[in-house]
Amino acid sequence: MEHTLYIYNTLSRTKQPFRPLHEGRVGMYVCGPTVYGDAHLGHARPAITFDILFRYLQHLGYKVRYVRNITDVGHLEHDADEGEDKIAKKARLEQLEPMEVVQHYLNRYHRDMEALNVLPPSIEPHASGHIIEQIEYIKRIIDAGYAYISEGSVYFDVEKYNNDHKYGKLSGRNIEDLYNTTRNLDGQSEKRNPLDFALWKKAAPEHIMHWPSPWSEGFPGWHLECSTMGTKYLGDTFDIHGGGMDLMFPHHECEIAQSVAAQGHEAVRYWMHNNMITINGKKMGKSYGNFITLEEFFAGSHPKLEQAYSPMVIRFFILQAQYRSTVDFSNDALRASEKALEKMTDIYRRLGTLTPAKESTVELPDFESQAYAAMDDDLNTPMVIATLFEAGKIINQAADGAVALSEADLQRLQKLFDTFLIDILGIRVEAKGADKGTAAYEGAVDLLMDIRKNAKAAKDWTTSDLIRDRLAQLGFDVKDTKNGVEWKLP
Ligand code: ZN
Repeated sequence: MEHTLYIYNTLSRTKQPFRPLHEGRVGMYVCGPTVYGDAHLGHARPAITFDILFRYLQHLGYKVRYVRNITDVGHLEHDADEGEDKIAKKARLEQLEPMEVVQHYLNRYHRDMEALNVLPPSIEPHASGHIIEQIEYIKRIIDAGYAYISEGSVYFDVEKYNNDHKYGKLSGRNIEDLYNTTRNLDGQSEKRNPLDFALWKKAAPEHIMHWPSPWSEGFPGWHLECSTMGTKYLGDTFDIHGGGMDLMFPHHECEIAQSVAAQGHEAVRYWMHNNMITINGKKMGKSYGNFITLEEFFAGSHPKLEQAYSPMVIRFFILQAQYRSTVDFSNDALRASEKALEKMTDIYRRLGTLTPAKESTVELPDFESQAYAAMDDDLNTPMVIATLFEAGKIINQAADGAVALSEADLQRLQKLFDTFLIDILGIRVEAKGADKGTAAYEGAVDLLMDIRKNAKAAKDWTTSDLIRDRLAQLGFDVKDTKNGVEWKLP
């Protein structure tokens, strides 16, 4: 089947047929987290959106190199060039090494992503591991005349750049409007112009993360790492750059300016942005008291949550909207997703239990083409889900004995669900009552332990040895301790 995947390119503001630069291969870069706190719902959306793209491109047969960076230096509190480094601040408050903070939250981020069934990217480069490359990149921008040195820091000259190229093309802003909305830094600034952004910042004496450079002992600006690491791993020009809509300005706008300044041309062919998640209609943020971490969702341990929501419910909830539309979280909305997911997984399980009839008594619509058409239309996951529910109606009818399905039709349906629900949407379907099964199994082993204890008390060594030896054969580790018998699962 021939596919033309259309994706919405933020830069051209149109849906464009996706044609990779190199046949059969795709390079994609997605802005990853700044690891100074637990991942929240806002982190789940870009991770899942680009996981779907990663999965679908691979399904279509492309060899995909997916780079998702880890920001571990240079992301300052006020997102611009002011304030303390977010990671350094956390390290200072908790009396940790900055890299301890990074590792701690990165481990937790990976655990959350794994729970959401988000596949790991091909490369996960750290900004702090690419200081030399970033210094070299800055030199290219200085050599091209688009950066200047001031008091040991290096700034990008936005006005000069705007005169030669156009600054603001991605976000659709123009420099005059930006001047009007940017507060003037009362002459205190080292910058020539308030719109200029830091490529390299001289470290203040109390700043704990710094490296030597030709300009000062300091650290790179936040926007620089993505330009540097994107081109290092994907080439001077690469296919896709993604991230949340909140990164479009200034982060991605600055990336474009840096690439054009350093390389003479843009690096990215398709810019993709997922929309934001609001909570009861409000932006998410610490100051709104609605900042809920993924961990809190999974445990139901935030005052705004009326219950716990499993990682798959969160994933399904996000996929029920196309990635460019807004999503509003509420307990009602998540409970509805929980119900819908349950219905979907029931359909999937029932499909596995159907016995084929000689002939089908219904004609199956071409669900497969419908699902592909939905994915090809800018990853329209809600349409894929709707198609699977349509197919589910027939599966439920077959399970209830109202219609019959031939072996070939059952295979088609199985393939449809395995491809779209499991592989592309990445929904994990646990065996029904998996938790109950574990509890029953553990209970049965405990029962054997009790029988062995009684046998020992009655000096029935034959029975007690039989239980111990047979469990050992099965790989169980059984130990007699002061507190009784301990056993471990094989
Ligand atoms: Zn970035």
